[in-house]
Amino acid sequence: MRKEEVVIVGSGPAGLTAALYIGRANLEPLVISGNQLGGQISITWEVENYPGFPEGTSGPELVERMQEHAERFGAEILVDEVIEVDFNSGPPFRLKTHGEEIDAQAVILASGASPKRLGIPGEEEMIGRGVSFCATCDGFFFKDKDVIVVGGGDSAMEEGIFLTRHAREVQIVHRRDELRASDRLSQRARENDKISFIWDTVVEKINGNGTVESVQLRNVKTDMVEEKPIDGVFIFIGHYPNSDIYEGQIDMDDRGYVLVDDNMMTTVPGVFAAGELMDPRFRQIATSVGQATAAAMVCEKWLEDPGSIG
Ligand code: NAP
Repeated sequence: MRKEEVVIVGSGPAGLTAALYIGRANLEPLVISGNQLGGQISITWEVENYPGFPEGTSGPELVERMQEHAERFGAEILVDEVIEVDFNSGPPFRLKTHGEEIDAQAVILASGASPKRLGIPGEEEMIGRGVSFCATCDGFFFKDKDVIVVGGGDSAMEEGIFLTRHAREVQIVHRRDELRASDRLSQRARENDKISFIWDTVVEKINGNGTVESVQLRNVKTDMVEEKPIDGVFIFIGHYPNSDIYEGQIDMDDRGYVLVDDNMMTTVPGVFAAGELMDPRFRQIATSVGQATAAAMVCEKWLEDPGSIG
């Protein structure tokens, strides 16, 4: 049984920021990476909205620097995945990975969220080569190009509207003939000259040789199949927080987002959460970093004197 003072679950911006702060408090945190070291930004080709990088940086580079920064202050990164937790009989809280069992006096959960995938041929292979799950991150690279947006919810509308700043034409492909999005956002999208809709249609395949060149669309009512030339495919069919393993241990909302109080503490004292695991709303690197900073600062205080946390 490995014994640690603070274990951080997740190695995206939230996890690595928590590690930096906990490390600087001389508490030598253990970061358990999860299945993707760096989390979602490690698949983002360019980050242009993180302060301090006026020329932009790449997702992998930012993650590398955050990791280096955390390690410089004593964080250890364990490349493994948490598969089971027991928060109800602690502290110490117990975490099980594929390779180890760990006891921790405090835990910071930063296991993030994942964009839902369509699960079609070409999607996974062309992420960062024309397939994107983030208009704010990647929209700029589609200046004067034609893109499709998949989905009919608020995210698809909001991101589709954002994309019109750059793209020549944005076509929203929705599997029904009625939007799920709010009236306000639906109306804004409908009124935008650059946006048009392809109703009752699903994307079955994304084609390209290195970068996206076309999509195969199928009308679900007529069953007609069409190959449509396109430069980019933006997929917004929802996110899911990576919170399955915490079920029954801490409270979550009905979508699985972990609930925290003003101290970033979950319903179990000594277990904190930060980043997209608890934030369905802002979902930015900068907000995750801020939430993790707060979580780490309170965590440090809580370890010193649990009674001092109001
Ligand atoms: P969402 O509301 O769950 O919408 C997902 C959309 O994707 C739906 O239109 C759904 O179609 C479609 N979809 C799901 N799976 C699909 C598949 N396999 N193939 C094709 N289409 C698929 O997700 P969201 O838009 O990300 O919004 C999440 C939450 O955040 C919502 O509560 C939303 O109100 C909120 N939000 C709010 C704002 C804002 O107010 N500014 C902005 C963004 C998000 P169906 O409609 O047929 O199910």
